[in-house]
Amino acid sequence: MLKKTEETKVMRDPIHGYIHIDLQVVWDCVNAKEFQRLRRIHQLGGNFQVYHTAEHSRFSHSLGVYEIVRRIVTEVSGLRDQLSEYEKATVMLAGLLHDVGHGPFSHAFEAISPVPHEQYTVRVILEDTEINAILKAVDPHLPEQVASIITYSHPKDILNQIVSGQLDADRMDYLLRDAYFTGTSYGNFDLERILRTMRFVDDKIVMKESGIHTVEDYIMARYHMYWQVYFHPMTRSYESILTMAFKRMRTVYHTHPEILNCAPMFLPFLEKEMPSIHDHFKMDEPAALYGFTCLSECEDPILADLSSRLLNRRLFECVDIHSDEDLQSVIQQVSDAGYDPEYYVASDEAFQRPYKPYHSAEGHNIWVLTANGEVRELSEVSDIVQAIVCGQMKEDRKAFYPKDIQIKM
Ligand code: CA
Repeated sequence: MLKKTEETKVMRDPIHGYIHIDLQVVWDCVNAKEFQRLRRIHQLGGNFQVYHTAEHSRFSHSLGVYEIVRRIVTEVSGLRDQLSEYEKATVMLAGLLHDVGHGPFSHAFEAISPVPHEQYTVRVILEDTEINAILKAVDPHLPEQVASIITYSHPKDILNQIVSGQLDADRMDYLLRDAYFTGTSYGNFDLERILRTMRFVDDKIVMKESGIHTVEDYIMARYHMYWQVYFHPMTRSYESILTMAFKRMRTVYHTHPEILNCAPMFLPFLEKEMPSIHDHFKMDEPAALYGFTCLSECEDPILADLSSRLLNRRLFECVDIHSDEDLQSVIQQVSDAGYDPEYYVASDEAFQRPYKPYHSAEGHNIWVLTANGEVRELSEVSDIVQAIVCGQMKEDRKAFYPKDIQIKM
């Protein structure tokens, strides 16, 4: 049932050197149209507006996650003998397919259609798609098995942890890949050494104590990448304009729906509460960007302006706010300048703690195997991580508004 490819397929990759594929089902999924669609979705949404080389796609990230999962299940001692060939294939497929439901522009797209991308991912695997047919041909239960790892509900918990835990294949790939493609050095850590000091003990992934400094590096990488890249004010500015454009689209759909005839790709997401998996398939970033090009000439001045801001990078300015009164004051000033604050003031809040031990869910901790054979939670063993856990959560609240207004606070 699990056929091997005739020879191992190798694909060059700047993060892993090569991606190795020797299972026919994995290769077939890579070539399925739903997976190829990921070439048309940026991994970092609008971040390329800030870091101009951040043009990498969800396609390459997904292959990278697959490769890390493949290495974990074939190299980590204690684990490779523990899992059946079927379980190994299932978790590799879950790594490969975990992002297959992403829409354009990452989370900002959820402003037009509140269906979360995780839900689409599960639907692409379970509904009538090429991927579903490929998985089912191997085993009728394979689609549900793969989906259950992605929803963190596979009965064999270790499989869930490999794809999404605290030290998981998804995060390890995106930190390294995003650091590489943004040209920043913050996200770097020694993946080789992490894989080499990983063990499987007491049904969980643990790190040998000798590898602890590498794990500290990984935690710091997360911290820096969040503040320097993912929460960069201008990334948030671009996303706030996207959110406003989708919000305006919804209003126009209710008041003058004929205006939207020039951008029919958005209509299923406005008309239906639950767009079909085919509607979702067609909605990629080239489609959305062409939609904004058409809307930049539409008869609704607000939607036309927001669309052209997106296309031509006329981003909003931002200011730190510390209270609801601050936000009210920005709204007032934007309104006084003649803009509709409904669509020209956005606010958001970024907060992140790079690592936080959970007492309830075991899989969400990082475990360390000490020299005398005990398994302990990371912050009990590492002073650096202990300091981060006890430190204050960093928060950053901002309001975004058109640049030509001088906001006084
Ligand atoms: Ca991911």
